Amino acid sequence: MTPSPIGIRSTPGPTKICYDCDHELYPKGKIIFDDPLVKQDSKGRWHCSDCQETERRKNLVKIYGPNHTNTRPFIEHEDKIIRKWNQGACSIDNSITQGRWKHPQTKVTYDDIGKIYWIICDDNEGNREFFKKLQNELMVLLEQESILIYYSNVSMI
Ligand SMILES: [Zn+2]
Repeated sequence: MTPSPIGIRSTPGPTKICYDCDHELYPKGKIIFDDPLVKQDSKGRWHCSDCQETERRKNLVKIYGPNHTNTRPFIEHEDKIIRKWNQGACSIDNSITQGRWKHPQTKVTYDDIGKIYWIICDDNEGNREFFKKLQNELMVLLEQESILIYYSNVSMI
């Protein structure tokens, strides 16, 4: 058995996959890790806490409508998040990066092929937390020991 990559906390037991998550982002389902609120339904399917919360909110909107005191605060909060991300940009660099590196402990040489994604967004704590979480998810999903994410300030000219 291969040891887990360093620094990844995981939900105990066999791999759990949520198939409710955004199918464009997670076409093969999202691997669930570090989610203490994960739940399994009677059919054995796993549901991450984000999807459980989304389902709960959809049901509340069906019952109360969008302007009720039980629904309006989270709808306004989500609108705020959407507005924030609409001010960002994402693009895929079509070039392929190639590199070779030697693992410092095992001395095994690896040939890496990479793809670059550029994301322009505000530099704030929430976005940094988002990318740290994404980095951990990608390491598990793509079975990598690390995922390079770096940032640089950009300005309009
Ligand atoms: Zn999910």
